[in-house]
Amino acid sequence: MKFRTFPILFFLLLISVNNYSQKKNSKTLYQTSPIISLLNGVMNDSITIGEVEHYGDFGLGTYNGVDGEMIVLNKKVYRVDYDGKVNQPEKSEKTPFACVTFFHSDESFDWNNEMDYNKFIEKLDEKLPSQNLIYAIKITGRFVEMETRSESKQAKPYSNLSDVLKNQSVFKFKNIQGTLVGFKFPNYMQGVNVPGYHFHFLSLDKKEGGHVLNFTSGKVKIEIEMINTFEMNFPQTKEFLKADFDKKPAPGL
Ligand SMILES: [Zn+2]
Repeated sequence: MKFRTFPILFFLLLISVNNYSQKKNSKTLYQTSPIISLLNGVMNDSITIGEVEHYGDFGLGTYNGVDGEMIVLNKKVYRVDYDGKVNQPEKSEKTPFACVTFFHSDESFDWNNEMDYNKFIEKLDEKLPSQNLIYAIKITGRFVEMETRSESKQAKPYSNLSDVLKNQSVFKFKNIQGTLVGFKFPNYMQGVNVPGYHFHFLSLDKKEGGHVLNFTSGKVKIEIEMINTFEMNFPQTKEFLKADFDKKPAPGL
């Protein structure tokens, strides 16, 4: 009897462990640090790209010293640098801010009408079941216009992000195909992440991209994942531990 029940119990245990890890990963958003940290000039951390990949295959962020914009798409990590060039960083490279999820869409639909950014966001808001949840959003297709930016790698001592962005590079594209990788966070999470929509863009040919400033949509497919678990790492660096976040943070991204 003992010999027969043991393998069955072991098998059941394996199934439950498996289920747990799938559930845990399927709708969890993982973030390396609160955004208020980056906004206030904490631009270094010890988390590597290899570690970030462990928590998701879809997302966005930046690199230590704000050395370009990060896009995580289809299990690959990209960087759009200050000159607008796209490369794939080493797994050992580090990030002060990244948020990722294993993307599984709950809902998907197509839009064919040309819409400016404000109209697009207004319509997207109407599709969301609640303003109180976090959403991962993937938008694939053609964009009539796309405006993105990136920033140059900073040296210590770091200024706040809003000062850094005064020297940002802006890139403008017309009639470009690609993917928007993004999130929507509720307003009540200000300080933790960016309230509202935050998108990064990567072109279909993987040659253009950046943090999205503006766009006009063309024919696109929209996929939305409702996040049900939020997991955040608290950095243990001296910079983070000593930073004063009670001073007014830099105004957004
Ligand atoms: Zn961004």
